[in-house]
Amino acid sequence: MCPDINEAHHDIFFEFYRDKCLVYAPLRNVAAWVNRTAGEMLQQSLGNALPGVLPVALEPLREQLAQTPRKPPAPPEGTFAPRQVSFLPTNGCNMRCLYCAPAAGDRDTGVMPLEVCEAGLRYQTEVVRQFNYGSLTVSLFGGEPFCAWDQVRYIVETGKRLADELARPFIITADTNAFMSPTKAHWAAQNMNYLVVSLDGPPSIHDLNRPSATGSGTYDAVARTLDIFAAEGLGYTLRCTVSAGMVDLLPEIAGHFCQRFRPRNMNFEPLMRTGRCLESDLKTPGIPQYVNAVVAAGKVAREHGVGLKFGMVRPERLDCSSCLVACDHLVLAPDGLAAACYAADHRESEYAPLFSLGAYDFETRTLRIDQKRVELMRSYAVHDIPRCQGCFCQWHCAGGCRIHHSPPYCTDAPGAMCAATRRLTLWRILQDMGLSAEADQIRLEEEETNALAA
Ligand code: SF4
Ligand code: SF4
Repeated sequence: MCPDINEAHHDIFFEFYRDKCLVYAPLRNVAAWVNRTAGEMLQQSLGNALPGVLPVALEPLREQLAQTPRKPPAPPEGTFAPRQVSFLPTNGCNMRCLYCAPAAGDRDTGVMPLEVCEAGLRYQTEVVRQFNYGSLTVSLFGGEPFCAWDQVRYIVETGKRLADELARPFIITADTNAFMSPTKAHWAAQNMNYLVVSLDGPPSIHDLNRPSATGSGTYDAVARTLDIFAAEGLGYTLRCTVSAGMVDLLPEIAGHFCQRFRPRNMNFEPLMRTGRCLESDLKTPGIPQYVNAVVAAGKVAREHGVGLKFGMVRPERLDCSSCLVACDHLVLAPDGLAAACYAADHRESEYAPLFSLGAYDFETRTLRIDQKRVELMRSYAVHDIPRCQGCFCQWHCAGGCRIHHSPPYCTDAPGAMCAATRRLTLWRILQDMGLSAEADQIRLEEEETNALAA
C-alpha cells in the first residue's frame, strides 16, 4: 500500500511487478492489471485528498475504486460456535517421514478413548442444532488417523447416526498418508467425503522422504490406495512437501501426479526445518527457487485441468485467519485436550498454553470449553498482527500459520515466506483474471526476495 494513501483507501493495494502493476481492492471486488505508469498515477490520485487529473482511460477504474468497501473479515462473536469438530484419533503413525513436524510415532502412540470421540460428536451436534448449521462436519488429522481404525469407524458410525437425528448431512474429511491396506482403502472410499493425501513424488523421492515405520518404501502401497479411491470415485488432493533437493523437479512431479493419478488438486508446500527434520539432512528450499518451480508446476497442472491449493496463497478466500485457529476451531487430541490448533496434540504439548480451549473431563464425562480462551483465540486474527497491515495478501494469507509463520500479534517485519506468498498470490490472481500467459511469466529473483520481504 502506498504510504501516502489516506485512511479511506487503506484496503486498496498497488502491487508493482516489473513494468506492470496489480491494482487490487478485494473488499471492493476490484482487480486490474495495468502498466506501471498507470498504477503510479492511480496511486497518486488516491493519495490526494482531492482527486488528481487522470487520463480518461483510467477514470472507470478510479470510479470502481471509489465504491464503498465491504467490511473486512473478522472472527466470530458470542458463544463458541465451531463449524466443524476435528479429531486426532491417534498421535501414532505407521510412517516415519523425515520431516514430520510432530515427529509422529516417536512418543505418544495412544489412541483416543471412544468416550472422547462421542463427546466431541455430541458437542458439535448441539452446535449444529443451536446455530442451524447445514451439516455435521468432521475432520480427521493426526498422527495417521487410519492407524486408529476402531476410532475412525466409531466416529463415522456415530456421526452418521447423530446427523440423521439432526436431519443434516454428515461430512467427513481427513488428512492421511494413505499407507493402508486395500480393505481400509475401500472402506475410506465408501465412507469419507474428501481426503488430503501426502505423496512426495515418484518412488525415487517419496520412498526416501516418507519411509514406513520399519524403513521400507511406501510409494507402492500409497499408489494402490489412490487407485482404489479413483475406482470408487473418492476425490482427493495430493500434498507434496518440497525440500531443497527436489524443488527444481516440481514440474516433473506435477506431471507424474497428473499422469499417474487423478487428483482434484495438488498442494506444494515448502519443507519446514522442525520436528524430526532437525535430525535429517533435508533442507528448506530457496525461496526464489520454490516460487519459480511452483509457477512452472502450475502450468503443468493447468494443462491437465488439475487445481493447485496452498495454505497461504489463496486469493479465492477472504478470511481473518489462514487456518481456522482464530475462527472457532475445535480440535480434540487423543488425551481429551481441546485446542484450536492441530499442533496442540496432548495436554503437555508445548503448544497447549497458546492454543488450548478446554478439555474432556473423564470424571464428569463432559467436554468443557472455556469461553475466555475462545476470546483469546479470536484475538489471534490477522487484524491484530501488525506485520500484515498494508499487505495485499492480508485477507488471503491472513498471517499464515500461527506457529511457523506469524505468531499471534507478530510485529516482525515480513519475512522471506512473505515474499513467496506475495509473489505467488500475484501469480494466482493473474490466473484467476484469465491472464495465464502473464501468470506463467511471473518469477522471483534472489535480489528481490529481501526487498519484497521488507
Ligand atoms: S505480511 Fe506476510 S504473513 Fe502477513 S499477510 Fe502478508 S504475506 Fe501473509
Ligand atoms: S496454527 Fe499452524 S499448525 Fe496450528 S492449525 Fe493453524 S496452520 Fe496448523
